[in-house]
Amino acid sequence: MSGKITGEEALKNLVEGNLRFAYDHSLYPRNWGMKRQKLFKGQTPFAVIVGCSDSRVCPEIIFDANLGDLFVIRTAGHVMDGSVLGSMQFAVKHLKVPLIVVLGHSGCGAVEAAINRAKEVQSLKKLIKSIHHSIKSYLREKRPDMDQVIEEHTKHDAEDLKKRWSFFLPYIQRGDLRVIAAHYEMSTGLVKFFDHKKQRHELPEGEREQVCGI
Ligand SMILES: [Zn+2]
Ligand SMILES: [Zn+2]
Repeated sequence: MSGKITGEEALKNLVEGNLRFAYDHSLYPRNWGMKRQKLFKGQTPFAVIVGCSDSRVCPEIIFDANLGDLFVIRTAGHVMDGSVLGSMQFAVKHLKVPLIVVLGHSGCGAVEAAINRAKEVQSLKKLIKSIHHSIKSYLREKRPDMDQVIEEHTKHDAEDLKKRWSFFLPYIQRGDLRVIAAHYEMSTGLVKFFDHKKQRHELPEGEREQVCGI
């Protein structure tokens, strides 16, 4: 992937952007006009964010990203249906995006509805059924811990991308793609990346400054 950034570098961008957002040091929106001109001929986003449609969880804002940075796919409860998978495949194959983040969040209404088995109209039933796939083990529990259920749902979706959908495997094996689950905590504005060693917001103050100037 000469000249392109790696999955690890892309992840670093997200971690730092999220820190800027959480500590009210966002850089964007700024200079939209200039950026629009630069993007006129094409896009090279550095990450795919598969997230929830929840109005409070806008990837571009919570990762303090610019126009053209993120390829975003949002559905209620980030379900993995054909269109979502197809969109991800497009981003990986044609835009050569090196990182997919499955982004869950605290207080997710879609996952809550799935746990409560809401009697809903047909289209919503489909959505709930697909969330049920990833939280099966919790459906028998009387009062499951919602935070745990939401995290399980997010992690399961990311694991499925790595193991169940063979399309992504060769990219992962070649080191051209990284898939990671993450959780956005609404009360703090911070995103926790699962199976990522360096949770930068957990670093001591001095080191945090070095990482992202906050
Ligand atoms: Zn949600
Ligand atoms: Zn699965």
